[in-house]
Amino acid sequence: MKIKNSEFISSNLDYRKCPKTKESEIALIGRSNVGKSSLINSVLKKKSITKVSNKPGKTKFINHFLINKKWYLVDLPGYGWSKVDKKEKSKIKKIIKEYILYRKNLSCIYLLIDSKIDIQKIDIKFINWLILKNIYFAIVLTKSEKNINESKEKIENFKKIFKYHNLCPDFLITSSHKKIGINEVLKHIGKLI
Ligand code: GDP
Repeated sequence: MKIKNSEFISSNLDYRKCPKTKESEIALIGRSNVGKSSLINSVLKKKSITKVSNKPGKTKFINHFLINKKWYLVDLPGYGWSKVDKKEKSKIKKIIKEYILYRKNLSCIYLLIDSKIDIQKIDIKFINWLILKNIYFAIVLTKSEKNINESKEKIENFKKIFKYHNLCPDFLITSSHKKIGINEVLKHIGKLI
């Protein structure tokens, strides 16, 4: 798929206030610092389309980008902030969970995992929740430019765990810095929408 057009539409704290539309949405989520903004910029071939949505205080928002005037890419709040207090964390959790559970036109969640570090407890917790709620997701390894083979090994291990749940999610290996796997992400999105 080619990106001909992309525009930032809105930031919202509540799924009910998100754009009223029936167009497909692909949402990205991951721990803070996983490389989500960089991946969005790489996929949309923009230097910093996420600049608007990444302003201080905006990190807990659901950000909608309209792509090719046809589908939405959704930047969900990151999870696992270390400097955020408990009350704020539970607010962010609610924003994320409600959006995922109730947004009817959500086609797929791309769950980003940093390939430079091991998968964290909070990632496993989140994956378990997605499985429990029967949410369709794919896993995107980020920052893989120096460890493609390790990333492939990681994927094989993941697959064993998922097989236990009778699941076989798609996996994508990416690096925004070296533009690895970006076309594969676009192809994957193309198939989904
Ligand atoms: P976000 O908090 O998930 O939106 O993450 P950012 O996109 O802001 O990236 C967090 C950090 O990871 C920054 O220091 C980026 O430069 C770095 N980063 C992002 N993508 C890559 C990548 O492909 N490779 C490497 N090595 N670092 C990356």
